[in-house]
Amino acid sequence: MLDRANGTCRETRAGVTGPLRRRSRKRCASRAAGGGRTTSDAERDPDFTLDQRGPIQPMNEFPEGEVEVEILVRSRDGLLIGRVDRVEGTPGGIRLIDYKSALHDDLPQRYERQLQLYAAMWHDTWGAWPAEARVIYPLTGAAYMVDVAASTCEGVAAEAAKLVRTMLAERRPSALARPGDVCTLCEFRPWCRPFWRTQAAEPSHAAALVRATVGFEGVVEAIDLRGENWRLMLRWRGCLVRLVLPNDRFGHLARVRQGMHLRVLDTPLRGLRQQPTASLTPRTEVFILEGAGIGEAEAR
Ligand code: SF4
Repeated sequence: MLDRANGTCRETRAGVTGPLRRRSRKRCASRAAGGGRTTSDAERDPDFTLDQRGPIQPMNEFPEGEVEVEILVRSRDGLLIGRVDRVEGTPGGIRLIDYKSALHDDLPQRYERQLQLYAAMWHDTWGAWPAEARVIYPLTGAAYMVDVAASTCEGVAAEAAKLVRTMLAERRPSALARPGDVCTLCEFRPWCRPFWRTQAAEPSHAAALVRATVGFEGVVEAIDLRGENWRLMLRWRGCLVRLVLPNDRFGHLARVRQGMHLRVLDTPLRGLRQQPTASLTPRTEVFILEGAGIGEAEAR
């Protein structure tokens, strides 16, 4: 089990008050109830699909100024499911918003596709297309518009559904993994055993140093909070990697003890080959493993 590093996401969403969250669930449930089952029912029943729920209710009662949070959406065939962070009623129609705790200064394609999938699922769930969609980085204040034209979103959704069907047909999920350049864009990277196995199995130390930028897994030799920064020494491929990480961004490291395994993403290793230093980037993430990591023995 992994613990997501950026605990800031919840903080960001904390701008939404408790009463509004509760109201959102109530409204969401009441809308879904038009077909005889509520969204809560849907969440409890893994076999639930929209087709079982009955006719889709048109989303025509979402007035300008209305705000809802964490709205469940599903594709008509039940293969895809998502939860939209925030939905706003605007003069032009419905706006979908997804918050990201990363410090990007661009819009990665995977985020764009995620919103396009949400738009398609919104249509399948509520019977109307959103007018716009945005990805917002609250920590940087940046916001990006996403193209949610029906034809674009339908194409993305069809591609995703095809992928899901392929995955369902394969009995061994790990057999589907093809670690490679695409992993740099993959949100599943922290949990993907084939990815970590491939990283650990790299025979060349020089190549491993390059690949470590995408992700490296190490065992904590030492950790210390000095002033505002955590100072870590991680054992990786028989050498010691130094990391300095600000506590205000990596506060979860307070739980880390000697001997624990960490996965570090998007952090280049520089300096001496046998004693490199990890260079913090805006994309750096650190995950704590609850158990043992993927050792080099398993990788081979
Ligand atoms: S990290 Fe795993 S799931 Fe993601 S692209 Fe790479 S191999 Fe596929």
